[in-house]
Amino acid sequence: MINKLGFTDLHTHSTFSDGTDSPETIVEKAKKAGLSSVALTDHDCVYGIDQFVAAGKKYGIETISGIELASYFSAPFIERTKEIHIVGLFIDSGNSALLDKTRQILNDRVERNKKMTKRLTELGFPMTYDELREVAGRDSCSRTHYALLMVKKGYVKDKKEAFAKYISSGMPGYVPRILPTPKECIELIKNAGGVPVLAHSTLYGLTFEQIDLMAESLRKIGMEAMEVMYSTYTAEQEAKVTAIAKKHGYAFSGGSDYHGLNKAGIYIGIGKGNLKIPESFVYDLKLRRGN
Ligand code: AMP
Ligand code: MN
Ligand code: MN
Ligand code: MN
Repeated sequence: MINKLGFTDLHTHSTFSDGTDSPETIVEKAKKAGLSSVALTDHDCVYGIDQFVAAGKKYGIETISGIELASYFSAPFIERTKEIHIVGLFIDSGNSALLDKTRQILNDRVERNKKMTKRLTELGFPMTYDELREVAGRDSCSRTHYALLMVKKGYVKDKKEAFAKYISSGMPGYVPRILPTPKECIELIKNAGGVPVLAHSTLYGLTFEQIDLMAESLRKIGMEAMEVMYSTYTAEQEAKVTAIAKKHGYAFSGGSDYHGLNKAGIYIGIGKGNLKIPESFVYDLKLRRGN
């Protein structure tokens, strides 16, 4: 059956977080891919949105203002706290509470990174925060940049070794970030006029039974949608996540999680090649605004 409404992509990253394309290039590529709409969902930041919306007008494609917030989720049915990601769609990027929170998240990240630099230096891998910043090209440095710096300095042979031995959660060089709770994220997004979406639920190392329980508990605190289509989902994962979303009354969302060259082989709209997210998702998600 022909989908008269067309297709969308509700999860992408620009150079304002860890993608390699500008917001304008993302819009241009979405237009070229034949999409009816596209969302920009940079990590913990909305600074790319103005450029994104302006580009949407220029290229004649609907742009959806978004964000991807990181959060810690813990519950009796999981062994340890998980970092989960909550996408906010249709947000007002000028909302002052949201802007304040993203500024605080960045400050907390900087403080954490300074601690982690110190810890790694004490472990025998001398480094400074300025060197880390240089690798990242900005203040919003992540553990990926630590791994790159450790490779550059010859402390490890590759990024994988840096994570496996030193900087993954539980390893000696790791310092956790300070993150908002899921409830805080949901409220921030809703108060900014947006719709909160549980992102890529298969990426948290949970069983489907645990995903089901997490979906149930997040629904109770106001989560409105789940990503039921995602670049890396297998057919089985898509079917199971869709069933879980339906069971708990979630709207459907989906996206490629496009990062440009930082996630090789993932393209806008089509993910690894087969992704097709119907524009009808956008209509249903819009109905959740103001809930
Ligand atoms: P941070 O937000 O600073 O804790 O860093 C998160 C970044 O580290 C994300 O870009 C992840 O993709 C990356 N990351 C986390 N664990 C690993 C791993 N085991 N191997 C490679 N990258 C990882
Ligand atoms: Mn990313
Ligand atoms: Mn994510
Ligand atoms: Mn993402």
